Amino acid sequence: MSFQSFSLDPRLFAGIEALGYTAPTPIQERAIPPLLQGRDLVGVAQTGTGKTAAFALPILDRLMDGPRGRLRALVLVPTRELADQIHQAVGALGRSSGLKSATVYGGVAWGPQAKALRDADVVVACPGRLLAHLEARSVRVSALEILVLDEADRLFDMGFLPSIRRVLQQLPAGRQTMLFSATMPQEVRRLAREALRDPLCVEVGEAAPAATVSHALFPVLHGRKTALLAELLRRTEARSVIVFTRTKRRAQALARDLGDTGRTVTALQGDLSQPERRRAIDGFRQGRFDVLVATDIAARGIDISTVSHVINYDAPATADDYTHRVGRTGRATRTGEALTLVTSEDAELVRELERVLGKRLERRSVEGFEAPEIGAESRRGLRRRGSRGSAPARGRTVRSRRQWA
Ligand code: AMP
Repeated sequence: MSFQSFSLDPRLFAGIEALGYTAPTPIQERAIPPLLQGRDLVGVAQTGTGKTAAFALPILDRLMDGPRGRLRALVLVPTRELADQIHQAVGALGRSSGLKSATVYGGVAWGPQAKALRDADVVVACPGRLLAHLEARSVRVSALEILVLDEADRLFDMGFLPSIRRVLQQLPAGRQTMLFSATMPQEVRRLAREALRDPLCVEVGEAAPAATVSHALFPVLHGRKTALLAELLRRTEARSVIVFTRTKRRAQALARDLGDTGRTVTALQGDLSQPERRRAIDGFRQGRFDVLVATDIAARGIDISTVSHVINYDAPATADDYTHRVGRTGRATRTGEALTLVTSEDAELVRELERVLGKRLERRSVEGFEAPEIGAESRRGLRRRGSRGSAPARGRTVRSRRQWA
């Protein structure tokens, strides 16, 4: 299938070509035709599937005709970074459209935002600051034709549903509405029922990590995690690694410890100001730092296409969190690796992950860091694998059939 087979406004092809898209991704293939017909849509798709263009192209197509300089399409997102990324994608895809997009989020000056809102056709906003603009009457939504709720499960996780409901009350009822989410918890289903009319549901794959990512577990003792991580980083020679920790404090401490080992490291966690966050993300994107240590919330929505490895220093709380974390690597057609350090406390998560992924995850170990296997089932699995006698050491110290670097 090609983009030409969609009945898109010809002016949009300049943007599609400039971004180097040659063929639509599965979510684009399935969502764009009904969206062009004006249908409401629920898209179950994670970051990395091309969902942004799946909604941005139909939005731009619709806005090409009709009045300019008033808010006709609104995209609600959980994070500033995601807002910036969507704003950039809309700008790039719509480069020959003459349409204007603006972002709205907290932590930056009010004045320039209010000014940009005056003649924007598309607004990409975090719910809290948008509500403030609605209350201050610096934005009008009476001409709104399209609403997108993006990363709806994250909007819910981050406590935005009450704000979203207040925004919804002010929007014209006749609009077209789309909701995208990597997972569909009960609360998101309820929101979809409230906000959408007779939606079509398009699901790409299970809510599981992209197929371009390979996964491995490193059983390790608690007190050895930092040393193992430093060793893994030393061996991978990877230039762009995101390391996840469970808490802000652990992110800060780990970034400091890794810095002491000579890595160029930056930490991304909730306490940073907006300019600090931007410096960390831009520095990592541009290669000034080769390791970014982040918490789940701080990393939401960041799109850095060159990430080669995601390392879970602390295992995520749930399989959904795992999906979101590893969504930072293996983006689009690139391949990536997700390495997870697991301790005896993570047995249940390992079982859940293996169920969601539909396969047993490979265990690897590094000499000097061996730890007991995780869970009884895993031990049986290891014996089976061992009985085939198929795990020759690769290199001097890594016992694995596959090299992790
Ligand atoms: P998204 O899921 O929207 O965050 O997109 C993930 C990545 O895939 C982004 O870097 C996009 O620029 C890229 N992308 C989106 N659609 C396509 C396509 N049709 N062909 C190649 N890359 C794409």
